Amino acid sequence: DRNVETHEYDVVVIGAGGAGLRAAIEARLQGKRVAIISKSLFGKAHTVMAEGGCAASMGNVNPNDNWMVHYRDTMRGGKFLNNWRMAELHAKEAPDRVWELETYGALFDRTKDGKISQRNFGGHTYPRLAHVGDRTGLELIRTLQQKIVSLQQDDHKVTGDYQSHLRVYHECTITELLKTDGRIAGCFGYFRNDGRFVRFDAPAIVLATGGVGKSYQVTSNSWEYTGDGHALALRAGATLINMEFLQFHPTGMVWPPSVKGILVTESVRGDGGVLRNSEGKRFMFDYIPDVFKEQYATTEEEGDRWYTDPDNNRRPPELLPRDEVARAINSEVKAGRGSPHGGVFLDIASRLKPEEILKRLPSMHHQFKELADVDITKEPMEVGPTCHYVMGGIEVDPDTGMSSVPGLFAAGECSGGMHGSNRLGGNSLSDLLVFGRRTGLYAAQFSEGARPAVAREDVDAAVERALLPFTTAAEQGENPFVVQLELQKCMHELVGIIRKEDEMEMALKKLEDIATRTRTVVVEGHREFNPGWHLALDLRNMLLVSLCVAKAALERQESRGGHTRDDFPVMDSDWRHILLVCSALGEDNVELTRKEQIPMRPELFDLFELDELKKYYTGEELGGHRA
Ligand code: FAD
Repeated sequence: DRNVETHEYDVVVIGAGGAGLRAAIEARLQGKRVAIISKSLFGKAHTVMAEGGCAASMGNVNPNDNWMVHYRDTMRGGKFLNNWRMAELHAKEAPDRVWELETYGALFDRTKDGKISQRNFGGHTYPRLAHVGDRTGLELIRTLQQKIVSLQQDDHKVTGDYQSHLRVYHECTITELLKTDGRIAGCFGYFRNDGRFVRFDAPAIVLATGGVGKSYQVTSNSWEYTGDGHALALRAGATLINMEFLQFHPTGMVWPPSVKGILVTESVRGDGGVLRNSEGKRFMFDYIPDVFKEQYATTEEEGDRWYTDPDNNRRPPELLPRDEVARAINSEVKAGRGSPHGGVFLDIASRLKPEEILKRLPSMHHQFKELADVDITKEPMEVGPTCHYVMGGIEVDPDTGMSSVPGLFAAGECSGGMHGSNRLGGNSLSDLLVFGRRTGLYAAQFSEGARPAVAREDVDAAVERALLPFTTAAEQGENPFVVQLELQKCMHELVGIIRKEDEMEMALKKLEDIATRTRTVVVEGHREFNPGWHLALDLRNMLLVSLCVAKAALERQESRGGHTRDDFPVMDSDWRHILLVCSALGEDNVELTRKEQIPMRPELFDLFELDELKKYYTGEELGGHRA
């Protein structure tokens, strides 16, 4: 059955996480007809799993906080490779986006005097994460969905149809973007349950498809995260930046094998949890890098005092940015001081009373009890790095979120630039709200322009492409699950947390072979719920993304944030201003070019002390500083 169900909208949002929902709400508030499409069930996105909280400098717990401090922390966290305009907009607008959520019905945890409470997190100078226990993402998604329902009720009063202006299509995977005359005209996909094809015609599309973690063997990401938005954008002619930067979260579960990679929230450390090796040593004190020496405690006593008196003490090194902590754990395990199952110990039991742990970290308690039979109020957890977040993504205009393809927008994790080489915890939920709203607004405006018609032959080609795994002769092709496993192993072993030139070259060779095999994967059966077929279509996206990561990682000869080179172990100022830009080369290859980063606006530059900037910038670049 080659029938293609057709729908027409002003704005189509692909992805129903925080970025997608906030974009859809904004476009609808602008009076547009909006479709929201999600690969899994509505409500099941990574956003829902976010535990720690949403960073916004409301200054409720420490009045010294403001957007400038948040901006500085974000740029430091990203090692000054961030798109500074995005970081500026994010720091300035995040508090409004959090307050606005409460007008939609969210209820954040409170301080004693009734303000929105804020918690400490790695890399943030002051307590800054608005939170709901350790289930913040759930509240965020719940509230955004509730807002959508309330808008649908408003629409019903006017049009008699709840779905006239906002309609959700779930369990629907988009496999192609359709362009006419160089602009976005629509997109094509299939419903997972019965395999029927569908096409959405629209002049503006927002990609909000989240991450790429499934290209790695150990990851906190779930099955949907195959880099679809990244690959769709590439194939439509847009560019990706910063793809060499992946965040390996320092604390994933390491045991039992079936749950390896599942996240252990950073809140455990924010609330006092400490990392120890097999000798019982709090090893993070040995791993404070020079650029952070002044901000972190050098003794356990000072670190411990910080939890109750942060103004007069420096923070403990367990709260260094994630890249530093992940590398430190990696080194301890490699040096033979790891825990029995190849991680290190994370101890909250000896630091907080059981009732405090149950109150502050209920999901973590539940997770360890259910999955590992460990009671975290009594014993330490075993943790190790897990592939968690991709800093790299679709290159967009910082103010509007539009990519280089007219009508194609991107927000949230699938967009690039905001977090530079490393994202601070809590800065994602705020990123989703700030840039979700912005892209929704500008996509709505853009949709008022020309409406290119979808070309019949493009739809036919999309159908053909989707059916390919069924039509390839069985003896010529392979099972997609076999190819996927090899791809994941290749990325995990050769382009993982610590990288070497010869290993990455080997990875690129393997990926070349995997590309050939991906083209000819075969699936059996029919289109009704067929996971093998779904994976066959996802696989080419995973491949493209992996090529971007491997090529960019090989090219960047320095270590910075989420990119660590064994052969180039230090950060190099000559690389700070260089972006590696990926574009598609045919169906299943990518090409890399270099691009100069736009220099920071002078008044933002002046927010930093010259002494600090010297650690990141070349002498020449510092000429313009007021000092
Ligand atoms: P997501 O929420 O990931 O949603 C992506 C959507 O796109 C989904 O609906 C998916 O079905 C859909 N999709 C994907 N491909 C397709 C396709 N081809 N067709 C149709 N739909 C598609 N960040 C924080 O700031 N604080 C935290 O405490 C925090 N904790 C985290 C805990 C975990 C376990 C994880 C995994 C992440 C955490 N993060 C946290 C990161 C943060 O949750 C994510 O980066 C963020 O939620 C991404 O949001 P998003 O809207 O960009 O995409």
